[in-house]
Amino acid sequence: MTLYLYFHGDALLHTLTGELPTAPIAFDEPIDEIESEVVDSVRILTARVPKQPPPPDHEWRSLRRVLPDLQPEQFYRYSRALQLLEWHHTYRFCSRCGSPALRHGTELAIACTVCDQLHYPRVNPCVIVAIYRENQLLLARAHRFQIPMFSLIAGYVEVGETLEQAVKREVLEEVGLTVDNIQYVRSQPWPYPTNLMLGFTARYVSGDIVLEEEEIAEAAFYSPAALPLIPPIGSIARSLIDEVCAQLRSESE
Ligand SMILES: [Zn+2]
Repeated sequence: MTLYLYFHGDALLHTLTGELPTAPIAFDEPIDEIESEVVDSVRILTARVPKQPPPPDHEWRSLRRVLPDLQPEQFYRYSRALQLLEWHHTYRFCSRCGSPALRHGTELAIACTVCDQLHYPRVNPCVIVAIYRENQLLLARAHRFQIPMFSLIAGYVEVGETLEQAVKREVLEEVGLTVDNIQYVRSQPWPYPTNLMLGFTARYVSGDIVLEEEEIAEAAFYSPAALPLIPPIGSIARSLIDEVCAQLRSESE
């Protein structure tokens, strides 16, 4: 079977019944890139489509919005496809000598046409942390959120840092708190654009909440019984929040 993943931005073309196309679709505008691979004996063809109305009997569905309805393996497949498209779109030249680079024949890499240097797709590690204090969980609303949603503290790992150092630094920078007992939970690739989210829990130690005002609009500790709007099911933020809340509830019984 072949599945056709047509992306416009993070919107993926679906049929009106929620299926992915299994046959190629003719668009008015030319498709500018295509990526092909076989996953679990399913051939995946991925294309970036210029902005245009969907073909008859189809619609564009944002990956973020369909996330709660996806099986994890579906999300990982779409996420990988979107990240590969982003990579092809963004990396066309050798960062060592500036010459054009072309897709390598066997490696998942581009090769410089002059100096032969290989360049692999970039993955950006990003820590995300659920901070608990007694029977409450820290949630923050970032200015970048498009809806009035509260999530966990998150940020990119800097060069030379351990993940634990990144957690401590981000928490101190964004909300002015110190934490300990940093425990890794799980990871999730996040295609906005090429992040690998590394999920942790951490225990509050000291400090009053002081916001990094350029990034965070508000932050507070919340009881599991009175949470504000939180991220959708399917996101690592939501799974960490749900698990820590379940743990806090069981401890307070
Ligand atoms: Zn080069």
